[in-house]
Amino acid sequence: MDLNYSAEELAFRDEVRVFLEAKLPQDLSEAVRQGKGMCKDKHDRWHSILNERGWLAPTWPQEHGGCGWNAVERHIFEEECCRAHAPRIVPFGLTMLAPVLQQFGSDAQRAYFLPRILSGEHWWCQGYSEPGAGSDLASLRTRAVRDGDHYIVNGQKTWTTLGQYANWIFCLVRTNPEAKQQEGISFLLIDMNTPGIEVRPIELLDGTHEVNEVWFTDVRVPVENLVGEENKGWTYAKFLLTHERTNIAGVGFSQAGLEAVKRLARQQLHRGRPLLENPHFAARVARAEIDLMAMSTTNLRIISAAAKGQAPGVESSMLKVKGTEIRQEINDLARRAAGTYALPFASESVAGDNSELAPPDGSEAVAAQYFNNRKLSIFGGSNEIQKNIIAKVSLGGRS
Ligand SMILES: Cc1cc2nc3c(=O)[nH]c(=O)nc-3n(C[C@H](O)[C@H](O)[C@H](O)COP(=O)(O)OP(=O)(O)OC[C@H]3O[C@@H](n4cnc5c(N)ncnc54)[C@H](O)[C@@H]3O)c2cc1C
Repeated sequence: MDLNYSAEELAFRDEVRVFLEAKLPQDLSEAVRQGKGMCKDKHDRWHSILNERGWLAPTWPQEHGGCGWNAVERHIFEEECCRAHAPRIVPFGLTMLAPVLQQFGSDAQRAYFLPRILSGEHWWCQGYSEPGAGSDLASLRTRAVRDGDHYIVNGQKTWTTLGQYANWIFCLVRTNPEAKQQEGISFLLIDMNTPGIEVRPIELLDGTHEVNEVWFTDVRVPVENLVGEENKGWTYAKFLLTHERTNIAGVGFSQAGLEAVKRLARQQLHRGRPLLENPHFAARVARAEIDLMAMSTTNLRIISAAAKGQAPGVESSMLKVKGTEIRQEINDLARRAAGTYALPFASESVAGDNSELAPPDGSEAVAAQYFNNRKLSIFGGSNEIQKNIIAKVSLGGRS
């Protein structure tokens, strides 16, 4: 097996590099490099730049405006974007909802929503979790009751990422409380500007406002916003989760993170020598790098199968567990490499400060990232739940 890129793939990589050099605004890449939070304006700018180039939706079929890239090209693109510190593309519309609409939505829904996801006119958020319905998602209680041409929605969602920016939310709602849990759920698309919706912020461990509670009081949703069939939402919800988990592998982020750890550990001294030469530290870095290479190959294998039309199954759970473990290990290595400089996670401690306590370049955000990325093993279905899924498939013979 030849693991080197072909001449065409190298040419594609160069094309991506040239594009990123020309089009990725420096203030955006600098903000990403320093681990600073992204405001809506920054996300929107990068979204528009990619859309203009036609490179916003690598996973979509070309007929809907996708790039038509194969698995290797997508991998190269992700790798290069992370290497250049491009902002992450917000996944809710592009990589979570869009595949569901493409597979299960009506023609009218595809025609209306897909172009607006690409243009950025619609910013989507994910209304799955509720208090008491996270791992046990099927026990969700937000109710939707049919009233003529509308559903009336009442209830509460929680942990809604970037819901403060969203103008649309895709929601799992209970339409039949009498049926078995999974059989009474529907998948609704809800305009966040509908009267009766309230978004309340939740502050995270690193002090950021990234997640929210979303409350629904007598919210009227047109029936044409139901995806697929009533009470079949669980099928669509699970399909969406496999896409969410595959993207969670975060190979490019880990590659960029590992490079940052090495840069930091070259600058930091341990007993007069660069920390990177310390055998214990170097062994941990090597182990993370080997794990990452193995996962990167597995990731390629899985996206290649997905490109041939196979929805990722248990493999996406494997990627979720391994990908997040690697990212958290890299965060921990960065925190250790920064040493005492990791103590303050205040944004004002920036490189370039000429006081004696000026931190080494790359150490400013390690604590914030370490704390923020505790979330990785919780969201998208916690890692314990993914391990249950893997065990059931490999030990129990069912998915
Ligand atoms: C930062 C962040 C962003 C999020 N964004 C979104 C979003 O945008 N939209 C959305 O809908 N949700 C979102 N979530 C919610 C996320 O999906 C849930 O937090 C997750 O599914 C876990 O549910 P829970 O928090 O209710 O924990 P629980 O389900 O109460 O679990 C608590 C602990 O028990 C363990 N556990 C539970 N059941 C089992 C079991 N059967 N076997 C073994 N261990 C078990 C879990 O692994 C966990 O460690 C987000 C969460 C976070 C932290």
